[in-house]
Amino acid sequence: MTARVDLDDLAVATIVVDPDGRVAAANATVAELVGSTAEHLVGRPLDELLRPEGATDDGVEGEDEGRAMCLRCGDGRELAVRALSRSRAGAGGACTTVVVLRPLAKGGAEPVGPSGIEVISTVSHELRSPLTSVKGYTSLLLSRWDRLSDDQKKTMLEQVHHDADRVTRLVSELLDISRLETGHLQLRFQTVALPSIASSVVAKLTFEYPELECTLAFAEGFPPVLADPDKVEQVLTNLVENAAKYASLKGMTVSGTVAGNSVSVAVADTGEGIPRTDLPHIFTKFYRRDQGRPSGSGLGLWISRGLVEAHGGRLDADSVEGRGSVFSFTLPLDTDAGGAAS
Ligand code: ADP
Repeated sequence: MTARVDLDDLAVATIVVDPDGRVAAANATVAELVGSTAEHLVGRPLDELLRPEGATDDGVEGEDEGRAMCLRCGDGRELAVRALSRSRAGAGGACTTVVVLRPLAKGGAEPVGPSGIEVISTVSHELRSPLTSVKGYTSLLLSRWDRLSDDQKKTMLEQVHHDADRVTRLVSELLDISRLETGHLQLRFQTVALPSIASSVVAKLTFEYPELECTLAFAEGFPPVLADPDKVEQVLTNLVENAAKYASLKGMTVSGTVAGNSVSVAVADTGEGIPRTDLPHIFTKFYRRDQGRPSGSGLGLWISRGLVEAHGGRLDADSVEGRGSVFSFTLPLDTDAGGAAS
């Protein structure tokens, strides 16, 4: 006698995937983990729901012996799960796959974070490229000093200077992570002129991206804000650099608007945009859509949001696939400044 098993009778989270890689059925345990209903999950591509931990959206294919994966929940959280899958070829060789998920985090409720070794490897990689360049240029300067023209020396020293800035920025980001997590971030509030910070950020990044074309749109007499200028510069640098790296060097705009007691700064690009399914995740620590090139640590947006929130503001993203993205943040107006800003 063959017993028919209802998926909902299974205490383990189970998903049946059709040959197209879409969810054919999911049981109540999965729905509970994701914070949705089984009916809502049916028909969704599996790789929208599950991604290999620390990797891009490759999906789950073939036979798999308990891979560490991230299960995307409705509210943007990601749960660490171990996914065990078995594929069975049906008529015509098409494969149906059954995926069983076991939450790794206690209670299945903790967000996924990379292991210590992954963090070290990401950060080391990010540090290595500017340091390699510093080493290369200084070696060249030392060994060929008499044969290099003043212009060549100047260009190399500018590059070394710029690379040193990158290393400093990365180290200060790492320090900010622990300060943000422990609530020990200290802001040096001052009267700040956003148009001049924006123009200096664009000028510095033009050195790294000579083809960068970015329009600054701040009205004459744009009011000053009360903020820590170093942190505002860090946030803007990250947003403009991301737009240059992931979107397009042309057609970028940094604009400011005033609304009530705060100002809003928007960095708009004309790139490919960010898929709707990825958008809720880009502010997650160490999350990267594009593994490999262009390089990055997956920290920038998480830190930027933390820095803006520490000022009492908000940082959000909006994106239309094929059209581009807009990252905007708010900061409080400096109502006592009377127009003077540094
Ligand atoms: P990093 O740039 O170091 O990877 P971020 O936290 O700054 O980390 O960004 C997270 C991810 O968000 C990036 O890997 C990239 O895929 C995506 N992203 C950020 N900004 C943009 C943008 N303007 N256009 C498209 N994708 C973006």
